[in-house]
Amino acid sequence: MRRVDTHPAWCGGGHVCSADRRGSHRSHPHTVDTEHGRIVLTRIRSQGGRDQVELRAVVELPMGDVDAQVVTRRVVADLCLSLGRHVGAAVPA
Ligand SMILES: [Zn+2]
Repeated sequence: MRRVDTHPAWCGGGHVCSADRRGSHRSHPHTVDTEHGRIVLTRIRSQGGRDQVELRAVVELPMGDVDAQVVTRRVVADLCLSLGRHVGAAVPA
């Protein structure tokens, strides 16, 4: 195990951060409740110094497997479009 002496100001440190174990700096999760569901964001800085945000969304689904699958596919498709619009050009593949 290597010791990391400095953490970004937003790093949660302790058990949240795994930089000492060749992992990543991680913030404490930030939860945003919206009218459409809950989004949990965690900022990450990789070993190579790249900053990322981990997004986890919890949304209500309609009753019935078919409708739930349709909504899920639409959410994923719209999320992909949104990511492409907002970060696609700024992040190299
Ligand atoms: Zn850290």
